[in-house]
Amino acid sequence: VEKLLEQLKTIQAEVSDLDAVANLLDWDQQTYMPAGAAEGRGYHLATIQRLSHERRTSPEVGRLLEQLEPLAAGLDPDSEAACLVRLAQRDFHKRTRIPPAMVAEAAQLISAAFQAWQQARSENNFALFQPYMERVVDWRRRYADLFAPYDHIYDPLLDDYEPGMKTREVQAIFDDLRPRQVALIQKVAARPMPDDAFLHQYFEPQKQWDFAARVITAFGYDWRHGRIDKAAHPFSISFGVDDVRLTTRVLPDFLNTCMFGTFHESGHGMYDQGIPLELNRSLLGNPASYAIHESQSRLWENLVGRSLPFWEHFYSDLQRTFPAQLGGVELRAFYHGINRVKPSFIRVEADEATYNLHIMLRMELEIALVEGSLAVADLPEAWNARMQDYLGLTPPNDAQGVLQDVHWSNNYMGYFAAYALGNLISAQLWERITADLPGLPEQIRQGQFDELLGWLRRNVHAQASRYEPQALVRRITGSGIDAGPYMRYLEGKYGEIYGL
Ligand code: ZN
Repeated sequence: VEKLLEQLKTIQAEVSDLDAVANLLDWDQQTYMPAGAAEGRGYHLATIQRLSHERRTSPEVGRLLEQLEPLAAGLDPDSEAACLVRLAQRDFHKRTRIPPAMVAEAAQLISAAFQAWQQARSENNFALFQPYMERVVDWRRRYADLFAPYDHIYDPLLDDYEPGMKTREVQAIFDDLRPRQVALIQKVAARPMPDDAFLHQYFEPQKQWDFAARVITAFGYDWRHGRIDKAAHPFSISFGVDDVRLTTRVLPDFLNTCMFGTFHESGHGMYDQGIPLELNRSLLGNPASYAIHESQSRLWENLVGRSLPFWEHFYSDLQRTFPAQLGGVELRAFYHGINRVKPSFIRVEADEATYNLHIMLRMELEIALVEGSLAVADLPEAWNARMQDYLGLTPPNDAQGVLQDVHWSNNYMGYFAAYALGNLISAQLWERITADLPGLPEQIRQGQFDELLGWLRRNVHAQASRYEPQALVRRITGSGIDAGPYMRYLEGKYGEIYGL
């Protein structure tokens, strides 16, 4: 077994290197690459990605897995060897089932669909995007069928992001969450809305940047193995545990974007930095899932970064940084302003109370599209009807409605659920953390985060991809992914702010 495992690990390390190189090229493309270099970069990326695909689906891997599978069956399922074989099987079987012609078709579709989406959005005309969206849905239906039999046609799509999770499970979680979240928003809407005009003033970009950097340094983001740069669409990206980079965006006339965006990305980054060094370049050294990843970013952005104890420490620093803008704004008023609840059309601008409804809407529509119960032509109308049901708003046009997200034009389906599940998991972890670390609120009030980060390192980061997301959440919290803690968190927080 040892010898076979060593051979498998060697191949995985090479694959990991190729993927890291592809990520580095992608990072450069989104930060510093001159605009005229796009075509050449497309070739570089395509070649590296092809090499990675060929290596991980090579007959050699198939032979190794054939020999290892029966041997691994006799091992403790939680052992490193058993996990490694399981993950390698999954990767191999998923990737070898997609015919090369479908991969090529998807690449062509994405470049055409993305252009059409950009034009449709700028001209505010869904009809321009509709034929491409029809092809995306058709491709995704054929993709799901490669993995038949399934309980639900959406399962194979979801599984790419949340290994092992079933559509029915997510639907049950969301069915529990939706009415409670709608009821909370309605209660909040009946109360006076806090003022947040002070957030919309001129804030010198360099000072915003420096403040965010001071905060994430206190969080524990490791600059020796990371850096931060500007990008139009902020993200965090890993080239291995020793190099995990962040990007952010600064708006001169709005304080929240850089601040909370940077906190958010640092949560992603600290997760990737927390993967144990001995798992670096291994298939075991990946994050558990997109939802688990998002739980880390949301925890630092919201549970920490939008909390009162956090601002009891950091508000004096922020006021010193921007005395003219914030000198006259009391801590409480600031805290209420950054936590204002206001239903809006755009997902990425949504507050904590309304965000999940944007996600549920998207997932329900995706499911209906791949099931065939909703025609693409009827998508804008279905979108607007749900916006009205959940948030009490009807988008004035498709650009602020069905055309707002880039995901579908990139042939992504099954991804959105991770955003809402990540919120739920962040609150589940938080209940566990505050039970384990009773001194945490006081530590946060002192600007100390080492015990919190240490807890996350031990319980979440160190597990890497050893467990599927549901199993990991169950191991840490004692229950599967559940809406209860998130609703308790929201009701407690907004109950206090809005006097409900
Ligand atoms: Zn995120």
